[in-house]
Amino acid sequence: MKIQEDFVFPVYIYEKTIEEIKLLCKSSELEIFGYLIGTTSKWNGRIYTLIEESLFLLGAIYSHKSYTSQIEGTAGLYQKKFQRIKKKRKNENLKIIGWWHSHPNLGCFLSSTDLLTQKYFFSKEYQVALVIDPFRNEFEFFSLDNNSKKGYKSLSYAVLKKTS
Ligand SMILES: [Zn+2]
Repeated sequence: MKIQEDFVFPVYIYEKTIEEIKLLCKSSELEIFGYLIGTTSKWNGRIYTLIEESLFLLGAIYSHKSYTSQIEGTAGLYQKKFQRIKKKRKNENLKIIGWWHSHPNLGCFLSSTDLLTQKYFFSKEYQVALVIDPFRNEFEFFSLDNNSKKGYKSLSYAVLKKTS
């Protein structure tokens, strides 16, 4: 396969990380959520991200019915966890790349609540939403898009095997 020289995916994620998240989602019939941690880089003027690991707090249940209160309620704890990892890994470039949540047998899209969550908590240019449907074995990355009627767009991605 010939790869276009100027091509870069907006999102890269380690296989281990996506498998870990899928497994967590499979283990719960409820909608659960966590954060995505990684780094951003620029290539030919375009920002792309590498998602290295996920953060998950037991009991982080997400609901599409009630606004963004669940995210707000755990934001402090997730921040603390993130700061600990940043320190441990001695990597000042680590960022919160976005969040993930499960859609048990709902398919992959952003609901109006999801869109509000994205706008409210993860509105930076590089921040993404990862939605996983463990029943249909599907997952998809999204980001905000003001040019789209829906307000968001789907992102292409590549899954990387970690060699180290
Ligand atoms: Zn959702």
